[in-house]
Amino acid sequence: EVVNFNQFFHRIIDRFEMSKSQNVAFSRMLPEKEYFVAIDPDKLTQVIDNIISNALKYSPDGGTVRFGFTVKDGFMQVMISDDGMGIPKENVDRIFDRFYRVDRARARSMGGTGLGLAIAREMIEAHGGRIWAESEEGYGTTIFFTLMVEPEESEWE
Ligand code: ATP
Ligand code: MG
Repeated sequence: EVVNFNQFFHRIIDRFEMSKSQNVAFSRMLPEKEYFVAIDPDKLTQVIDNIISNALKYSPDGGTVRFGFTVKDGFMQVMISDDGMGIPKENVDRIFDRFYRVDRARARSMGGTGLGLAIAREMIEAHGGRIWAESEEGYGTTIFFTLMVEPEESEWE
């Protein structure tokens, strides 16, 4: 299904912004220009829901979750960042493994199964994209993923 990504992303963020109970600000840096992607919207919703709920779960009181995307060479790069506790360098790539949680104490207090990002990676790769994380312990985490954008009308001929 071809979806207007700007609208799609705003709607998901709106839903979290209306229902969140934490004192966490949302900051959107989405381009004005509209871009279209061929995706399974239910699956992409599940991916983004998990990333946002992780960002909220690990945000400090008064923190900010930032949303953005850029487009280059036919690919969109989406980023969702938080200024939470972060992830130790040696564990950053493992958060996409099934059942992996950074530490057991944290896992116990936060709930969840450790499957969310493993499913996200499967779904993004099934869409031909990539997903990864950058994190600085004590400063925050950014999750990035890519999707192919649909060519614009002016590029058709
Ligand atoms: P589930 O998503 O299944 O409810 P979960 O959130 O623990 O459980 P994932 O979403 O796969 O599982 O995340 C795996 C682990 O990566 C988390 O348990 C947490 O330790 C770490 N993690 C994920 N996102 C963040 C983040 N934004 N900041 C800090 N740690 C994170
Ligand atoms: Mg999760």
